[in-house]
Amino acid sequence: MMNTPRTLPALTDLDPAALSARIASLGLPAFRAAQALDAAWRSPAKNWSEVTTLSQEVQQQLAAEFEFDSATETVRQEAEDGATTKLLLTLRDGQKIEAVLMRYPADRRKGTGPRATICVSSQAGCAVGCPFCATGELGFGRNLTSGEIQDQVRAARRILRAEDRELTNVVFMGMGEPLQNIDAVLDAVTGLTDPKRGAIGQRRIVISTSGVVPGIARLAKERPQVTLAVSLHAARNPLRDLLVPLNRKWPVEQVIAAAAAHARSTGRRTTFEVTMIDGINDRPEDAQALVSVLRGSSAHVNLIPMNAVAHTPWHESTPVRIEQIAAELRASGLSVTVRRNRGREAGAACGQLAAERAGTPPPAAVARRREQLVQASAAALQGRRTTTPIAASGPLLPESAT
Ligand code: SF4
Repeated sequence: MMNTPRTLPALTDLDPAALSARIASLGLPAFRAAQALDAAWRSPAKNWSEVTTLSQEVQQQLAAEFEFDSATETVRQEAEDGATTKLLLTLRDGQKIEAVLMRYPADRRKGTGPRATICVSSQAGCAVGCPFCATGELGFGRNLTSGEIQDQVRAARRILRAEDRELTNVVFMGMGEPLQNIDAVLDAVTGLTDPKRGAIGQRRIVISTSGVVPGIARLAKERPQVTLAVSLHAARNPLRDLLVPLNRKWPVEQVIAAAAAHARSTGRRTTFEVTMIDGINDRPEDAQALVSVLRGSSAHVNLIPMNAVAHTPWHESTPVRIEQIAAELRASGLSVTVRRNRGREAGAACGQLAAERAGTPPPAAVARRREQLVQASAAALQGRRTTTPIAASGPLLPESAT
């Protein structure tokens, strides 16, 4: 069941037809809907009173019906000399989410101009519980609405507008598992790609999943131009059971088959993400397992050094080890990149800012969790599958009232 806040709808929660009908029911002309959407997507306004194309009376009428902005900027942190901006945003019911804006210079070699990518959240917290992820440790708060997802993109555009830059890409790699909130995510993609709203090309949108098999099939059918990224992290089931607990429901072979079907039906190349953890998933047998499940596919593999999360006993793989794995994969014909972790300085690992705000867990709980992870990873490395969930050590997000 999707939990939504008991508040006014966000302006961006409604599609243009529904918005027009609602505005008409207020006795206002239909063109006010177009004006409101234009202000939302193409003006620097942060609230109704700053929408200069509307009279004060109309502003007040609309403010009584819709939130102009459903994700208020609460904290902004800059990193990497301003190339990365990390946002902590507060939703209408107080839930905190994160979005990260990354700027890239023009690349003459590739013939590309300057790019700017926003990494958005699809849920407050996450129910999947990957133990290396700060969001996973926070637990699940609620699903975001379509408007709350789109409003993260609007926040990025407002920042970029002041710099005279354009937003070029959107990636669903922030807090949450997008395909466990697929209705809102697909609706948000509709808004983001609508020429009169976000006007972003479908091919410039990436949706990342930890392996929700039915969601991958639906994505292929309903948004075939959107790029699929799969957070694989391990190609051996006992290890992936631990690193991505959803693997107990949809194991490696089902996830790979769903991604392959997606690639066949859309003609789009799938990206597989592997967070590299020292001594855990960076062994020779891990490289062999990756090769055995991906060989012959057009897939691209992204190796990402793990961001240090306080409450695990784990660390990022060494650069040398990551390069060795990359070389082994390339030797088998796979396309591989080693991704630099943007925003480390700003605490940009998914959920870290929100986790900091949630408070410090008791040391005994942290120690218990670390010990549990040591034992579970030892069992997984010996090939034993486990069903025991790893306990969170931190304070969990409050689940919103329905
Ligand atoms: S890595 Fe992604 S799917 Fe896993 S807990 Fe974090 S947000 Fe959820």
